[in-house]
Amino acid sequence: MTTSTPSQIPAQTPAHEWTPERIAALIALWNEGLTTSQMGLRLGITKNAVVGKVHRLGLPKRQSPIRKVAAREEKPMGEVIKLDKLTADMCCWPDGEPGTDEFRFCGKQAVADKPYCADHCRRAYVRVTKDGRKVAVA
Ligand SMILES: [Zn+2]
Repeated sequence: MTTSTPSQIPAQTPAHEWTPERIAALIALWNEGLTTSQMGLRLGITKNAVVGKVHRLGLPKRQSPIRKVAAREEKPMGEVIKLDKLTADMCCWPDGEPGTDEFRFCGKQAVADKPYCADHCRRAYVRVTKDGRKVAVA
């Protein structure tokens, strides 16, 4: 298992100098949710230097529970249901491109004897008539 380091800090830059790259790295680490002391370690500066720079940059506060909830609600589907979480009574309507991270299943309570929830039953069991109208068949 390797740990990925998304924010690489240029090693040759003097620690005290706030180059645009270092400021970008600071902001990236901040947005990743690292503590100021962890950020200091990554950037090779003291925690106090991090706090001071964050303050001067006016970076938004993080790790407030309210913000976390808000961020989660931006996802339209809520909890991501992958194949391994899918159970027999869950809607197995696929969503997203198979093989990508986006791919998941609906996961709502399925209608009895049907593989889908009520919403997706309506979408699944629909027949298009000759004149283009959609009719439910179940
Ligand atoms: Zn569904």
